[in-house]
Amino acid sequence: SHPTYGRIDGPVVMIGYGSIGQGTLPLIQRHFEFDADKLVVIEPNAEKAKMVETLGIRCVTEQVTRENYRDLLGGLFEQGRGFCVNLSVDTSSLDLIRFCREMEVPYIDTVVEPWAGFYFETTENAQRTNYALRQAMRDEKAAHPGGSTAVSCCGANPGMVSWFVKEALLTLAKDTGRDSTKPADREGWAALMQSLGVKGVHIAERDTQARRKPRPRGVFVNTWSVEGFIAEGFQPAELGWGTHETWFPENGHSYDKGCQAAIWLERPGAITRVHTWCPTPGPQFGFLVTHNEAISISDYYTVGPADAPEFRPTCHYAYHPCDDAVLSLHEMFGSGKTQEVHEILEVDEIVEGIDELGVLLFGHEKNALWYGSRLSNDETKALAPDQNATGLQVTSAVLAGMVWAIENPNAGIVEADEMDHERCLEVQRPYLGPVEAHYTDWTPLQDRWELFPEDIDESDPWLFRNVLAS
Ligand code: NAD
Repeated sequence: SHPTYGRIDGPVVMIGYGSIGQGTLPLIQRHFEFDADKLVVIEPNAEKAKMVETLGIRCVTEQVTRENYRDLLGGLFEQGRGFCVNLSVDTSSLDLIRFCREMEVPYIDTVVEPWAGFYFETTENAQRTNYALRQAMRDEKAAHPGGSTAVSCCGANPGMVSWFVKEALLTLAKDTGRDSTKPADREGWAALMQSLGVKGVHIAERDTQARRKPRPRGVFVNTWSVEGFIAEGFQPAELGWGTHETWFPENGHSYDKGCQAAIWLERPGAITRVHTWCPTPGPQFGFLVTHNEAISISDYYTVGPADAPEFRPTCHYAYHPCDDAVLSLHEMFGSGKTQEVHEILEVDEIVEGIDELGVLLFGHEKNALWYGSRLSNDETKALAPDQNATGLQVTSAVLAGMVWAIENPNAGIVEADEMDHERCLEVQRPYLGPVEAHYTDWTPLQDRWELFPEDIDESDPWLFRNVLAS
């Protein structure tokens, strides 16, 4: 009863068989036709490689590196045939995209990943930002427009949340009695956001998934890649910087090159807290962990020139990971040491919880609108194998991105904001559990610790100055 979205001729190569790879593989098998003997997984971890081989699938047990990627992938792909699905860490998205486009092989990933070592060996904070990583990808797109499709950053976030922003805008337009026709291009979408009075967007997430066993001390527990989360958590906090902001953080830095849509703070994202809101908890703290979508969304919705915009929304991640991950972060930053044991909560050990991942559009006449997926782990079990709720929100976005790429083979390098959100959500929605819109009258000025003075500005509740927790 599952729809087939088309045929992939030639080799289907998946790089990385971690939590996301393991969940994506069955969706690829379920929704595409391809020659089973042309499916190859590249996974350096011997234990995981064995899991792949047990499924009767060929596994290349090697790391993809700067030195070997051309030979390794060149030996697998055929010119103009196949699909490259990159779900690994420590492989350069930019180099892999360049290579796949030379080979005219469609490509997808879920993050702009650098080669191994980048996050901790690069000493300049400005160079360790997602701004720098993304800008290099945007420069590549500008230098080589069009050509074979490579979808950059198409997971849940970055990825799906960009499609949610568009749905949320159309919902808000309808609910405020305005024209809710889908805009035809980027300029139209940006004008719509501006006309609705939206000042900014939180990628507002609350993960309540939990297992019965308490987190052992010295173990970093998460619901997806621990390595990936630690790497991004130690990058500087970053956010798209809106035109309504009247104050600039003392530890903030802006840019005079590139899209100029974002700023970064001289502080790791995973200990930078912000006030935000999700339907289940209501008000909560989130971590301002840097993410590609914080920059891409602010860039996409900019009206006017990059260096002097007439309108631009503030945009950032406001992430409350699962409680065990919050404790893990607390322990890691407190001790100054990264835990050596890493655990990803598995679908069958999780006893309760949902991943509530959405976008909070704020500052407009209805105050704030949260729009997102509230997928439970229990429902996930019934929808797809080998993943928890967090995983399925990501892997179903990868599926949607692959479908879009096959249907649009010559779209060049694209981000989720630039894809047809309706088509992508049509493919993804069966896997998202309840997708809901919630209005709230909460603002960052409510429920403050009134006994202690704070550096806030009550003239506009939605200033980043009020959102940033002291
Ligand atoms: P994971 O740590 O569970 O798995 C990563 C896998 O990559 C591992 O199996 C590892 O052995 C393999 N690997 C490491 N180095 C490699 C190399 N050089 N060549 C080939 N394989 C290599 O991570 P995950 O949770 O599966 O996440 C995978 C990627 O997806 C990460 O980059 C992560 O940041 C990203 N991600 C994105 C989203 C999103 O919503 N956009 C969400 C979750 C994860």
